[in-house]
Amino acid sequence: MTRFAPSPTGYLHLGHAAAALAAWQAAEDSGGRFLLRIEDIDPGRCRTDYDDAIREDLAWLGIVPDGPVRRQSDHMAEYRAVLDALAGRGLLYPCFCTRADIRREAAEAAHAPHHAPDGTLAYGGTCRALSAEARAERIAGGAPHVLRLDMARATGEVGGDIMTWREWEAGSGRRRVSAPVAPFGDVVLARKDCPASYHLCVTHDDARQGVGLVTRGADLRPATAVHRLLQVLMGWPAPDYFHHPLLLDDQGRRLAKRDGARSLRALRAAGYDARAVRDAATGKAPLPA
Ligand code: GLU
Repeated sequence: MTRFAPSPTGYLHLGHAAAALAAWQAAEDSGGRFLLRIEDIDPGRCRTDYDDAIREDLAWLGIVPDGPVRRQSDHMAEYRAVLDALAGRGLLYPCFCTRADIRREAAEAAHAPHHAPDGTLAYGGTCRALSAEARAERIAGGAPHVLRLDMARATGEVGGDIMTWREWEAGSGRRRVSAPVAPFGDVVLARKDCPASYHLCVTHDDARQGVGLVTRGADLRPATAVHRLLQVLMGWPAPDYFHHPLLLDDQGRRLAKRDGARSLRALRAAGYDARAVRDAATGKAPLPA
């Protein structure tokens, strides 16, 4: 089982087409199913017109998902249950810090600010030290908070901080790779604006949907260590991973959703046919000028 899991925060671009086609092709090759999952937990950024456009653009590429589409916003109770299970094992704590607090703390620290492998600023841990009474009091007072994973406890529980998984390399090879997860620090598993997070939902859903191969851009490869940790903690199976190289635009910049000119629908409107776009997304041939 493979899946394509875009967030409806913009139109699909060539990078999405690469992830979708890798998953689609792997499903075809193995006689497995290809699932579409809409990762729409971010209430501020997700839009239903982008959601509709995703299926339309995939169909134009020649990709039709098997079975019903899963929308994460329909499954908040499932994410809540995972959070409750982790909290029950003492692995979560509420954090009341704002982004500004975290930046200030990093600037004032005696050592250089610590960045997680995905480039985000790792959390210094102020709220980890709060007493149970202080936490309860602030929550009762309605203080907005996220829930963080206590990384030291979590890695202690799974017997170490080195996470391993099977990575498909571009071409044919598959190999076991490892990465430490501790440098991520206490990652957020439930956000202030929605009681879930990318790391939580993606791992829960891949397990729940029986996904055996995760295909996505190389920018998400570092996050795989966090995903493996959650899988081990929750007893979920380890999928294989394929992180496709990021596609660059004419100026050598990474394609991003904000770069609307290269969205699949902009390419379609400009007269490109689906085959040329598929070839460009899979690195077979550059887009004709
Ligand atoms: N929803 C993520 C995105 O659109 C992809 C998540 C994944 O494939 O693991 O970037």
